[in-house]
Amino acid sequence: MTSTLESTTREAGDGGAPELTHWIGGAARPGVSGAFGDVTDPATGAVTARVPFASADEVGAAVAAAKAAFPEWRDTSLARRTQILFRFRELLNARASELAEIITAEHGKVASDAAGEVARGQEVVEFACGMPHLLKGSATENASSGVDVHSVRQPLGVVGIISPFNFPAMVPMWFFPIAIAAGNTVVLKPSEKVPSAALWMAELWREAGLPDGVFSVVHGDKTAVDGLLTHPDVRSVSFVGSTPIARYVYETATAHGKRVQALGGAKNHMVVLPDADLDLAADQAVNAGFGSAGERCMAISAVVAVGSCADDLVGRIAERARGLRTGDGRRGTDMGPLVTRAAQERVTGYVGAGETEGATVVVDGRTGEFDADGDGFFVGPTLLDHVTTDMSVYTDEIFGPVLSVLRVDTYEQAVDLVNANPYGNGTAIFTHDGGAARRFQNEVEVGMIGVNVPVPVPMAYYSFGGWKNSLFGDTHAHGVEGVHFFTRGKVVTTRWPDPSHAGLNLGFPRNT
Ligand code: NAD
Repeated sequence: MTSTLESTTREAGDGGAPELTHWIGGAARPGVSGAFGDVTDPATGAVTARVPFASADEVGAAVAAAKAAFPEWRDTSLARRTQILFRFRELLNARASELAEIITAEHGKVASDAAGEVARGQEVVEFACGMPHLLKGSATENASSGVDVHSVRQPLGVVGIISPFNFPAMVPMWFFPIAIAAGNTVVLKPSEKVPSAALWMAELWREAGLPDGVFSVVHGDKTAVDGLLTHPDVRSVSFVGSTPIARYVYETATAHGKRVQALGGAKNHMVVLPDADLDLAADQAVNAGFGSAGERCMAISAVVAVGSCADDLVGRIAERARGLRTGDGRRGTDMGPLVTRAAQERVTGYVGAGETEGATVVVDGRTGEFDADGDGFFVGPTLLDHVTTDMSVYTDEIFGPVLSVLRVDTYEQAVDLVNANPYGNGTAIFTHDGGAARRFQNEVEVGMIGVNVPVPVPMAYYSFGGWKNSLFGDTHAHGVEGVHFFTRGKVVTTRWPDPSHAGLNLGFPRNT
C-alpha cells in the first residue's frame, strides 16, 4: 500500500465525487450494477465519494472467490496463518492513525474516539494471534480397551459478515480476525454509509500476505445483504445492526441453513443509587451518553435515578453537558456530528416528541454553536428529565446524544424497569453498596453489566453480546464463543487393532 485507498478509489471523469470499488479476490473491482450511494463527511455535509451497490451476481463473485480460496487457506499451517495475523497486527499498529482518520471523515466521531475504536478492534486481532492455542482439541487415551478418542475444531468455509455504520473498523474486527485465523474465508458487507475503512483493511491484509480471496469486501444495501443470506456457499452470517434487521437476518439466514449470530439494537440503563458518588456518576453518564454522539450500541440512553439523588444528579449532568464542545471531530471537539442528515432529523424529532409528551428539556441540543465549516449533521448534548416508560424517547432506540432521566423510589423498581425493557445489551449500576451491586448483577436480565463502569464492553478474550432483542442466536461475538462460532467440532475414535483382534460383533459398541 503506497497511500490510503489508492487502488480502491477511482476519480470521477466529470470532476464529481470519486467512486469507490468492491474488493474481490485480492483486487479492487469497480461496481457494475449501476446502483450507487453517496458517502458524506458528516461534519461538513459534503459528498466525498460514491459507493457502488453490489448486485446478487457481484456478491456471488465474492463468494466464489472466497470458496476457491478456502481449501488452500484451510490447509495452510497454523504457524503460517498466525504469522500473517501477526503481520496484520504490526501493520495496523503502525498505521492506526490512517484508519482513525478515515473513520472520522465518514462517521464523524472525534479523532480520539476513532483511535479508541481501532485499538479495541486490534485487541481482537491480538486474541486471534493465539489461535493455535484456542484450536487445541482434547484427547482421551484408552477410553475403551485399546481405543483412543480425540476432538478437533475445523473451519466452516465461506463466512459472511454484515456490519453497521457506527463502528466501521471495530465491529468487522470483532469477527474477521478470528474467522480468518481459524481457517475460514470471509466476505464482508460493511455499512454503505462508511465503506472506506473496510477497503483500507482489505488492502492491509494484502500487504500482510493474506492470499487473494480470503478476505473480500462487497458494498451495498438490502440486495447485497440478501445475496449473502441466501447464497448456498455461505456457511455462516455474523450481523450487527438494528433490531428489526437483525431479526430479519437471523430468520432469513437460518431458513437458508446457515449458522447465525445477529446482534441488534439497545436501550442501556444506568441505575444510580442514592449512596453513589454523584460526581463520578454524572461524569460517567455524560461520557457514556454523549460519547460518539450517542451512536454506540453500549451508549447509556436512560439514567434511572433512585430515591433522593435525582435532582442533584440531574443538576450535575446538566452542568457537564452544557460545557461540552460539539463540532468537527478533527478540531479537538468533545462530540462530533450524527452520521447523516436523516439521523439528525430523526433525533431532533424525538426530542420534540419527548417535550410534547411531558418530558422536561433540561439541556436542548437542537440548536447551538457547532465548531465546523459547511452544513454538518449536528445535534448538541440533550438532557431530558421526568421521562416515563410510555414516552417514545424511552420506548425507541434514539441512537443520538439524548440522555433521558427516569425517576423511581426504590432499587426494586429500578430493576423491574430495566427488566421490562425489550432490549438487554448493556447496563450499569452506580453505588458504594457491594451487596446491592451483587444483587443487581444477579437479577438484571442484560448481557453485559457494569458496576461503577458505564460502558462495560468486554475484553476481546471474553465475549460481547446482549440478551433479549439485542441478540438473535445463542453465540456472542469474539472470545471463545467467537472461536466456537467460526469452527465446528469433530470427534475421532481410534483403534489400532493388535494382531489378537478378530471376530464379528454386530451389537451396539460398548465400552469395555
Ligand atoms: P442497520 O440495521 O440500519 O444496518 C446494519 C447493516 O444492515 C448495514 O450493513 C446495512 O446496509 C444493512 N441493512 C440495512 N437495512 C437493511 C435491510 N432492509 N435488509 C437487509 N440489510 C439491511 O444499522 P445501522 O444504522 O448501520 O447501525 C446502528 C444500529 O446498530 C443500532 O441499532 C445499534 O444499536 C446497532 N448496533 C448494535 C451493536 C451490538 O453489538 N448489539 C453494535 C453496534 C451497533
